[in-house]
Amino acid sequence: MATKSATLGTCPECGETIPGGYLLIEYETTEGPEQFAECPDCRGIVHPRP
Ligand SMILES: [Zn+2]
Repeated sequence: MATKSATLGTCPECGETIPGGYLLIEYETTEGPEQFAECPDCRGIVHPRP
């Protein structure tokens, strides 16, 4: 099983890089795709930044 990408981006709270496995949910909005992920460092549920 290949993962979609190595990382989702960085945490807007603490700046930690968020690995692909921390993705919780991905959905489409009128403004484009949104992702929620759990930060491995601060444990927050965040929108990863590219
Ligand atoms: Zn964080």
